[in-house]
Amino acid sequence: MSDVADNRILTVGLGDRSYDIVIGEGSFAEAGARLRDFARDGGLCVVSDENVRDIYGGALTETLGRAGLRYDSFVIPPGEGSKNISLLSGIYDWFGEGGRLKRDGLVVAFGGGVVGDLAGFAAATWMRGVSYVQIPTTLLAMVDSSVGGKTAIDTKRGKNLVGAFHQPSLVLIDPTLTETLPERELRAGFAEVAKYGAIASEGLFGRLERNGRATGLSDVIHECCSIKAKLVEEDEFDAGRRAILNFGHTFGHAIESKYGFAKYNHGEAISAGMSMAAAVGERLGVTDKGTAARLDALLSRLGLSSRESADGLVAHMRSDKKALADGVNLILLKRVGEAVVHRMSWDELEETLHG
Ligand code: ADP
Ligand code: ZN
Repeated sequence: MSDVADNRILTVGLGDRSYDIVIGEGSFAEAGARLRDFARDGGLCVVSDENVRDIYGGALTETLGRAGLRYDSFVIPPGEGSKNISLLSGIYDWFGEGGRLKRDGLVVAFGGGVVGDLAGFAAATWMRGVSYVQIPTTLLAMVDSSVGGKTAIDTKRGKNLVGAFHQPSLVLIDPTLTETLPERELRAGFAEVAKYGAIASEGLFGRLERNGRATGLSDVIHECCSIKAKLVEEDEFDAGRRAILNFGHTFGHAIESKYGFAKYNHGEAISAGMSMAAAVGERLGVTDKGTAARLDALLSRLGLSSRESADGLVAHMRSDKKALADGVNLILLKRVGEAVVHRMSWDELEETLHG
């Protein structure tokens, strides 16, 4: 199809699993025309959450209707609590009801990271895998979780413990959908944006320093997705370089878990986690001096906090799914725009954190 002028398309090149990321203000209005290329006769199943359905359900029906597409929708309660096995099981039953979703059907994950992970995992596993499309509606999902094919649900022993790699067939991003996001969710998304600057783009980092959250969203999303696309192409199954996307996340996950996932949301926790990782890097002499102060200043400009105590964190890190038996591979910065993987034992880490 022809594109409206401001749509920009990135391709994640993965051989026969390659797909496009379409980024454009107003691109949601053309979702129907785009989905028509992927929807076949086996059913069109949209998963979203109550908030997204209430705000955008009508517009979705309209764009799909204009393209001659009919769909069924499964609506989950908002929040991380929905990424569980019993809701997943409900989705399977719904897929199966009256033969709603066949092997050549299409799943659409329409929502934030929670919907993307859950619907993506359902698509990855239903009949050993059916196609799905991501239409992310939070900044966090637009810059991070909708690209790269990681899908998962949580168990009572931890987040994302059960999952699969399953690449989407298309990621359709309309940055204007973030206009209705609660302030706190938008801010959390900027933590992931800052992460991309810190690990891979001093240019992006500098633009955020200059313009804060007024930095043009479309450009920001494009740059983050192109960094992510490259890392996913290099390392689809997260066995090497892709790990740098975890900058701030080992500490961040421990912070989330220390407070029972109640005090901080994901973005807020990784903001504090990135700050901690930068400080640890400087103490170890891996990170150029001054980097941690620069990162903290940016986080505070974005309205994010970087202050959090390291007490008790290592215990939580030991039960993280990325933990090794005797230590952890931490992602540290060399400088703004460059990250490295740094292996540390638990003892070393305790010492550095409290030293
Ligand atoms: P994340 O993308 O950060 O993983 P969620 O999927 O849990 O987070 O979404 C965060 C919250 O924002 C949820 O309550 C969700 O319903 C709501 N939400 C998602 N997208 C939008 C949007 N475009 N406008 C308003 N609220 C939204
Ligand atoms: Zn993250």
